[in-house]
Amino acid sequence: MITATDAKALDDADPLGGFRERFDLPGRMIYLDGNSLGVLPKGVRERVANAVDKEWGQGLISSWAGASWIDLPKKTGDKIAKLIGAAPGQVVVGDSTSVNLYKCLVAALKLNPGRRVIVSEEENFPTDNYIIQGAASLFGATIRYAKPAQDPAELIGEDVAVLLLTQVNYRTAAMHDMKALTTAAHKAGALVIWDLSHSTGAVPVDVTAADADFAVGCTYKYLNGGPGAPAFVYAAPRLVEQTAQPLSGWMGHKHPFAFVLDYEPGEAMKRYICGTPHILSLTALEAALDIWTDVDMAALRTKSLALTDLFMALIAQECGRHDLKIVTPRDHVRRGSHVSISYENGYPAMRALASRGVVGDFRAPDLMRFGFTPLYTSYTDVFAAAQHLKAVLDQELWRDPAYAVRLAVT
Ligand SMILES: *Cc1c(COP(=O)(O)O)cnc(C)c1O
Repeated sequence: MITATDAKALDDADPLGGFRERFDLPGRMIYLDGNSLGVLPKGVRERVANAVDKEWGQGLISSWAGASWIDLPKKTGDKIAKLIGAAPGQVVVGDSTSVNLYKCLVAALKLNPGRRVIVSEEENFPTDNYIIQGAASLFGATIRYAKPAQDPAELIGEDVAVLLLTQVNYRTAAMHDMKALTTAAHKAGALVIWDLSHSTGAVPVDVTAADADFAVGCTYKYLNGGPGAPAFVYAAPRLVEQTAQPLSGWMGHKHPFAFVLDYEPGEAMKRYICGTPHILSLTALEAALDIWTDVDMAALRTKSLALTDLFMALIAQECGRHDLKIVTPRDHVRRGSHVSISYENGYPAMRALASRGVVGDFRAPDLMRFGFTPLYTSYTDVFAAAQHLKAVLDQELWRDPAYAVRLAVT
């Protein structure tokens, strides 16, 4: 029997416990949705206010150089590089994950011109598959999808140009073995693009050790960059100078302010920048990333697994008599940092939970999804969340008709 006292003891012994006060957590909310939109880190508000009032308001155009606005895609990229096993200069930030996927996918197809098959999986995040479909239609490529639970390695033959996968699945939190799949793809002569949206800041990642060709990822989830924060992109240094991404905008030009007729790609990752950087968003992200200089990723992973283990144990203990099915892998090496539970009345149950201050989200058709962000989620939060879920289920609070109506964003 796990008790509140046990959860409190885990919090008291938590080496990452001190990070919670570096975030502006709203009142009494138990926020288990940091895998969708991270919490506001303290200090971000002031940095954005400064960028608006001083850099923009007073400095105006001079701030491009004077406040180093022009360097923000690289500066924020360098901070993220450390979290994914890349070196400074190997990551830039800009555009959305979807757009960066497109850049990498087309660059990879161009590097592998004799092949026209793209491998992904049916359960990949929708935008990944939609971008694949868009690029495939332009390049006359064929898409081969792994079925749920099928190993994508089975689909990699000598005709495959690119393997594009998300490391941690957005629904189930199932985690791929980046190194094994990359090695298998390389053996067959295919290039690999990894979407690290649910990995970065959640699990240790090493694109260099895995020998990934390209990687992209989101910064508004575990990196807490704020709503719509721009995404990052990585290309392996052994490849980057040979790559040509298709969105050849002026800010990725070797000399943007030469205003010449013809495009010439900038050095290394600069070519992955397209247009004018989103300065206010990048300012928020840069400030949010400061926290990570103090984070021990091994400790973060240990706590992430402990939080998800505790939640799964509490679901069994508190909600065992209800028809819930945990779809997240029990096996540590195969698990990211959220837990999803399949339940017929999942949508209204999540709404009922939210009305009690426990915020997770819902993924169609029936998944209740709970994100565990080790920097600000406590074991006590996990215990309380399970108690609330028990109340929602035991008392059938989800039956309130108000919760049946789907909101525009779930
Ligand atoms: C969140 C997420 C995205 C987001 O893409 P945007 O273009 O930033 O909206 C992409 N891929 C995965 C796997 C994600 O989890």
